[in-house]
Amino acid sequence: VIQPKWKNSSYYNQGTAVDLGKRSQLGISALSPARVESIEVQKQRALRLFRSKHTMLEKYIFMAQMRTTNIHLFYKIVMEDLQELAPVIYTPTVGTACLEYSNIYPFLAAPGTSDGLYLRKTSTEDLISLIKQYQPFPHHDEPYQPEIAVISDGSRILGLGDLGVNGIGIPIGKLQLYVAGAGIDPRKTLPIILDLGTNNEKFLKDDFYLGLRQKRPEDPEFYETVDQVLNAIRAVYPNILIQFEDWSSEHAFGLLEKYQNKMLCFNDDIQGTGAVILSGIINAIRKVQKESGVAPEDHRVVFYGAGSAGIGVARQIQEYFQIELGMSEDQAKHVFWIVDSKGLVTQDRGDKLAQHKVYYARSDNQGQQFKDLVDILEYVKPTILIGLSAIPNAFNAQVIQCMAKLNEQPIIFPLSNPATQSECDFEQAMTHTNGRVIFASGTAFPSITDANGHVHVPGQGNNMYIFPGLGLGAIRCKPKLISDRMIYKSAVALADSLNANELAQGWLYPSLHRIREVSVTVATAVIEVAVSEGIAQEPQVLGKSHDQLLAFVSHSTWSPQSDVLSASHI
Ligand code: NAP
Ligand code: MN
Repeated sequence: VIQPKWKNSSYYNQGTAVDLGKRSQLGISALSPARVESIEVQKQRALRLFRSKHTMLEKYIFMAQMRTTNIHLFYKIVMEDLQELAPVIYTPTVGTACLEYSNIYPFLAAPGTSDGLYLRKTSTEDLISLIKQYQPFPHHDEPYQPEIAVISDGSRILGLGDLGVNGIGIPIGKLQLYVAGAGIDPRKTLPIILDLGTNNEKFLKDDFYLGLRQKRPEDPEFYETVDQVLNAIRAVYPNILIQFEDWSSEHAFGLLEKYQNKMLCFNDDIQGTGAVILSGIINAIRKVQKESGVAPEDHRVVFYGAGSAGIGVARQIQEYFQIELGMSEDQAKHVFWIVDSKGLVTQDRGDKLAQHKVYYARSDNQGQQFKDLVDILEYVKPTILIGLSAIPNAFNAQVIQCMAKLNEQPIIFPLSNPATQSECDFEQAMTHTNGRVIFASGTAFPSITDANGHVHVPGQGNNMYIFPGLGLGAIRCKPKLISDRMIYKSAVALADSLNANELAQGWLYPSLHRIREVSVTVATAVIEVAVSEGIAQEPQVLGKSHDQLLAFVSHSTWSPQSDVLSASHI
């Protein structure tokens, strides 16, 4: 009897699709029912069982179990039914899964397999051996050589706060979207949670909480530990792309500043969000210029929310005003008014502003302080209102009506996730602007059919339009770092990726059905910038035309196969 190499391997396991010849060769003919099925039939059955689950969390658990036993079936379903699956494997359900992680973890993975790497503070030597322990596909032909890691410390999971070690659901979920959305090989991904304790009192007292029961360290210890961990990861995997995800805002900015020019890394909450929203704003600016004659340089933007997302998005849009419209940095910076929990951010407000807010603090308010959002709108007269506050209903009827009074086509983006935290929904925005709103949200809202039978589809500023393509581009061209220009161009490429049909319908973002194609376009733009900046280290991308690069990237993507257990794998 041949020892099956794929025993316990979620990569080679095909379940009922293994043909009778192979079963007999492997000596496993009696270990399953007689029928041999195609992956299509397996998928239909799985979807039927999936849809029979009563809660989203049960669906999440079902899919997580499938991922740890049959990778190809998992990704076939996720890719072919992405609109249905994305809300299960990522937001909003991944949020519920993280809240519940300590209660469901023991039932997710088969014994001996692991869903991610759990790191703690320890010596560098120890860290290196802990990192090497994670071998998700022990029976693969090549040694595990991950190309991309997503790392969180669980300190600010979505809009849900500090969830400690339970935050591991986010790196896992994000990497699944890299695979589904951009065709990154699932065998080359590395999800990491750095467990530094938690300040979540409820978890600290919860009998079932699985992380370290200690408070988070102070800043000096925090930065030192993270530095040690990043160095250990890079000692084991020198060329890996490191994506920071869901770190508390202050640390997120601090870490990005410290490492963005030193190693291959980016922060999706800051830079990915910035790029995806910039892309929607570019298309909104083009639309209101064409339809209402608003000159691009006449825009004024109010940000409601000044966390990592708010400031990250403002910085990215500011670049557009500088690069595309030729404004000076000082002019472009003054296009923005930032609002936090204490009101309009001004230099003379009388409180100590967090470091990341200082840059945008206004000094032209002549001593006036504004707290109420409608007062702020009346004072600023913005053309664009963006919500990243996680405060539900912050854009109430008065706020939306005020924007409608000030603008023919008010641009309103309530971006907070999940839907329960959104500043308003699409229906409210449509109602209070008599259908004139140019809208995008963080969570998908249903379309609205107006009295004339015209269907209005709300835009969704989903980070999934950018980070998979950005990561794919970086992996393929192996740059020393991710430059600001690479992020910026990824946004422009996304804005330009809409086809004639999507533009005719007035959309701000392309259809998610085309995500693979869009990711290849974004990746290609990223590679072109890296080549032009002279930081691409992969010889294969040098001296290629745009079309050659598109083909190169497209050919390099991974897809689930129907027959992985070919003779050569046995
Ligand atoms: P964060 O760091 O916690 O920031 C929240 C910000 O909102 C803070 O600046 C806070 O003010 C402000 N805020 C709180 N209450 C307020 C109030 N009553 N009025 C005005 N401002 C108020 O969170 P984040 O990482 O930036 O994320 C914020 C939201 O954006 C989350 O819901 C997240 O899910 C969402 N998000 C969406 C996308 C997307 O759609 N693509 C991407 C990333 C994040 P203080 O600074 O004064 O505390
Ligand atoms: Mn995030």
